[in-house]
Parts: sequence; structure tokens; C-alpha cells
Amino acid sequence: MKYVFLDRDGVINEFPGNGNYVTKVKNFHFIPGSLEAIRRLTEAGFTIFVISNQAGVGKGVYSENKLNRITRKMLDGVTKAQGKIEKVFYCMHRSDAECDCRKPGIGNIENALESINQPLKMAAGSYFVGDTKSDILTGFNARLKTIFVLTGRCTKEQVKDWGIKPDYIVNDLLEATKIIIRSKGIRVSQYKTKNILAQL
Ligand SMILES: [Mg+2]
Ligand SMILES: [Zn+2]
Repeated sequence: MKYVFLDRDGVINEFPGNGNYVTKVKNFHFIPGSLEAIRRLTEAGFTIFVISNQAGVGKGVYSENKLNRITRKMLDGVTKAQGKIEKVFYCMHRSDAECDCRKPGIGNIENALESINQPLKMAAGSYFVGDTKSDILTGFNARLKTIFVLTGRCTKEQVKDWGIKPDYIVNDLLEATKIIIRSKGIRVSQYKTKNILAQL
């Protein structure tokens, strides 16, 4: 079984801006190509999970009900595009809640695999696609391959300061998908990977 774990904001839908959340259904906009990307992954036989931090719920910025409606819009769009997202896992806790599910914790990756009765080790070598350091750390912590996309929060230049290197840096999810499906691409080698577990 092949798995792909996707961050949501800045990967599937347009990044709402630093410090902002997608709080309304009408503010959820697919990034061009992301629906095609999900369709291609689906057709290639990947099981896709969305793993997203939505601390705005825990902070009371928007309700869980609103988040569910936004999720419905995303899943409806994916279904219409003939793709399939197996399940969406959110961490709705505040950053100070010390939960296991907030990225870069891997609680929601474990939850995703548990939902299909698979142990975490089955995901080793699968891919995590994200737009932040936290996403790349999450993938690293779960022993996944990591792909950083430039459609979201961070620039290529910022990655150099992270102390951890994604396996790949690509423009968007559609490019990431091509790497995942072909399992080849240009490996990023100019940065040194440090052991970042100490930071967690
Ligand atoms: Mg993001
Ligand atoms: Zn959490």
C-alpha cells in the first residue's frame, strides 16, 4: 500500500496569509493544479490523507462546525475531480495544549494509519507534502520522504535556515505528484540534514 500525506493550506488550497486561517467556506480556493494532482495520485493507487493544524478552532477564531463545512467543500471538489481523499485529520488544539496531534508531532499520521488498521512503520518511505518547516519535520519524524512546495507560506530561501532539508523542493502539488508517481526527480542536496529530534 502506498500513502501520501498532504498538508492542506498552501498545498491543496490557497494559503490564507501569515497568522490567518481559512475561516469561511467562501475563502477556501483550490490552488491551480491541486485537484488534478489528487486525481492523478488516486488513479496511481495512492491512499491520500490530509494532515492539517487548525488551531484557530482551539483559539475560538472559527468553530469546528465551520471547519467541517470547509472540509466538505474540499472533499466535494476532490470527488468532482475524480480524486479521493481517504480521510482528513486536523489538530484543532492551541499550540500550548501539548497534544500529540499538532505537527510536527506525528499523532495524526498514526491516527490516519490506525484508521485503516496499519502500523506506523507501514508508512516508511511514503511521502509528506507541505509548505512549512513544521510539515517537513512531521515527515521526518514519521520517517517519510518529504516534499516542500512553494505555493504556501515559505520561500526556497527560508528553507536554508531550517536545519532540516526536504527531500525535494517543487513549485506545487502537481509537480510533487509527478515525483511521487515516478519516484524520481531532482534531489535537493545543498543543505545538510541535522538531527532535529532534539528540538521537539
Ligand atoms: Mg500549510
Ligand atoms: Zn492536537
